[in-house]
Parts: sequence; C-alpha cells; structure tokens
Amino acid sequence: MNILDIIAKKRDKEELSKEEIEYFIKHYTDGKITDYQASALVMAIFINGMTKQETTNLTLAMAHSGEILDLSSFNKTIVDKHSTGGVGDKVSIIVLPIVASLNIPVAKMSGRGLGFTGGTADKLESIPGYQTNIDINTFVKNVENIGISMITQTLNLAPADKKLYALRDTIACVESIPLIASSIMSKKIASGAEKIVLEVTCGLGAFMKNIESARELAKEMIEIGKLADRETKCIITNMNEPLGFAIGNNLEIIESIKFLRGEEMPEDLKEVVLEVGSEMIKLAGQGNDKEENKRKMIENIYNGKAIQKFIQMVQNQGGDINYIENIENFPVAKYCKNIICSKNGYIKQLNAEEIGKVACMLGAGRVKKEDNIDFEVGIILNVKVGDNVKQGDVLAKVYANDEEKLAIAEDSLLDIIKVDENYVDKEKVIIELLQ
Ligand code: URA
Repeated sequence: MNILDIIAKKRDKEELSKEEIEYFIKHYTDGKITDYQASALVMAIFINGMTKQETTNLTLAMAHSGEILDLSSFNKTIVDKHSTGGVGDKVSIIVLPIVASLNIPVAKMSGRGLGFTGGTADKLESIPGYQTNIDINTFVKNVENIGISMITQTLNLAPADKKLYALRDTIACVESIPLIASSIMSKKIASGAEKIVLEVTCGLGAFMKNIESARELAKEMIEIGKLADRETKCIITNMNEPLGFAIGNNLEIIESIKFLRGEEMPEDLKEVVLEVGSEMIKLAGQGNDKEENKRKMIENIYNGKAIQKFIQMVQNQGGDINYIENIENFPVAKYCKNIICSKNGYIKQLNAEEIGKVACMLGAGRVKKEDNIDFEVGIILNVKVGDNVKQGDVLAKVYANDEEKLAIAEDSLLDIIKVDENYVDKEKVIIELLQ
C-alpha cells in the first residue's frame, strides 16, 4: 500500500477501504506521510466526500491513533459535550462547571480556534497561569478529586485529529461533513465519554450554513456514536449572530464569569447553556425532566455553587483565581473604541462569520497556525438582532492593541452591523434536537 495510490483513488471518487484509511492515519501520525501528501488527500476528501462507512472508519482510526481513556473507575456515567464551532461560543466554559456543581463528573478536551471561530482552550488560557496542556494522569486525577477538568487535546488523545485539525485550518478544508464529524467523534471516543451532547451550530457564523447541512452533520455524528456505542444527542443552535455579547478570549471569560455569578446572562446564551446542560444531566441519569434540570442549574448559579466549581477548576489547573474573583484585574487592550449607530431602526443582521473575522484580524484568533493569540482584543456587542436602536447609540465596543487594526475594525463593523427602518424579529436560538 502507498499514499500515492490512496490519494489517486480519492481524487478519482472511489471509496477507500478500512485498511487504506488506517494506513493513512497511522503514517500521517508517525510522520512518514508528509503534510503536503496529507493536504492532497484531505482536499480530495473535501471535494469528493466520503461514504458513511469511510467516515466511520476514519473516526475510529483517528480515535485509536493514541490512547483511549478508560473512565470506568468513576462508577458514574461520563457525559461529554462539544460544539461544532461558532463565534462568541463560550457555552462549555459556563455549562460544564454548572453540571459539575451538580455532582456529574466532567472530563473535557477542548479545541483551539479554527478558522474564524474561537476555541475554548485558547479562552481558558487567557486566565493567567491556567494550564490546558496537562498529562492524561493529572487530567483523570483532577476529575476524581474535584469532579471537573478542562484541557486541550494532549499528544496522546486522538493525535491524528490534532494534526489534521491544524492542517485543515491552513488549507481551507474545515467545512466538510465527514471531516468535522470524524474530528469531533474521534476526540469524544478517545476521551472516554459514554454519552455525548453536541451543539451543532448552524448559520452565517457556523461551518454549516443551512439547516439541511447541519442536520446531515448531526445525523452522521449520531450514527457514528451508535456504531461506537456512545449515545449521542445533537442540539442544532442558531449561529447567525454571535452567541452572547463578547467575542475575544479574556472578554469571553469575563462574560462567562458574570454568567456563572448570576450577574448578567444574555438571553441567547442562557437558552443554549440550559438546553445543553439539561440534556447532559438527563443523559447522566440524574433527571428525566429537563425543565427541572434547568431549575437545578439556575439554583446552583444563584447559590454560588457554579462559580465556586469554576474557581476550584481554575485553581486546580494552576490559574490565578484573583482574576476570577476580581475581574477588573484582567489586562485590558490599549485602545477601546465605541461603534456608533448612524440612524434609527432595528438591528437586521450581525453576521457572525464577518464579526469573527474582525476579531481574528485584531489578534483574537490565528491566521497562521503558529500565530500567537492576543488575549485582550476583541469586540463587545451592545445589541442583538431585532433590537430597536437610535442614532448615536453605542452598537459595539472594539478592544485593540494596534491603532491601525482598530481603525480597520471600526470601518468593518460599521458595515457589518446592519440597521433597517422596518421591524425585525428576534432570532430563534434552539432550532431542533436530534437523537
Ligand atoms: N470542532 C472540531 O473538533 N473539529 C472540527 O472539525 C470542527 C469543529
């Protein structure tokens, strides 16, 4: 077997065998297959797609490219969650401490920013000292000791996905159903979860731009879950506009802290957090009544247990909790500029992808995979779609560390934030649940 024949087969729209997929994953992981050969194959997959059988084989090969965590010693059902990616999506940072505060163990491996979307691991690293790169033993011990650990993809868990994920980001091959489904499900299988809740984002700021493709992705992941004996539920959520108000790493952490303290809970974010959390509690076997589960989550926000669990997690992973307890300690970008509304009307569109790209340009995401993230920069929106605005209102604030980028961001946002004289309906947040 050799990689040239495998690339040629996919180029010619033929189905790859299990052995060929395993060969590719094994030798891409051990470095015998080069990045340029892998790029050619990934592009052929992107263009020609994969059958369900190929996608399942790819998922399992990636999951087995490293260790598979065995969390059975917990004697509790481990439920994991993952999002297909979005702009302003800080759901994991909020929902997981809440779920853990209800004594449901959380062992979460998160990704970094991809394309115009942000990554939970990058956001957590904006808390000074927080270590996302810990070894597997410490990860499992953390879950045993305090009931929660949130890390990034370590070398040993689904290493093939780690390499492919970074590669896809640099060759414009992210938005592909087989590649996203296998990427997410391989990580979930490797990290030991028995049950999985997936937020499948849909809309302008998601990789799936319409409901049909979001459904197809969801069905594919549910199917892979069945074959791998991992019960999987998918919640399709709206990602036309960013989730919540903050976009950018420490800005999103601050929004999450305020949420966990019960101080400010943007409506759309609250809906997604409660929906994902109540489904996780149900899958964990801790309550079939989702409304009751939501009530328990809210109770743990207001009685302080949720923020305490977050503080415990941050401390346990080397983070400085002074920042969590006093959010004004977080470093602030050098420049801050208000984006001012030029006419009366209603917010018609806040294109999440375009806003994500502005945040990326400011330094909140990576343009090349070796780029460093600037944790302080980003955007805080002041409005949501459907809001009534007046001339002179502040629509958003831009946080930048570079004057030139600040000016570009201002011009772009004035163009991206669309105001219309006619009444505009609010967007539906939870679109549907598939299981
Ligand atoms: N999230 C992942 O983990 N992988 C993808 O391919 C896209 C989003």
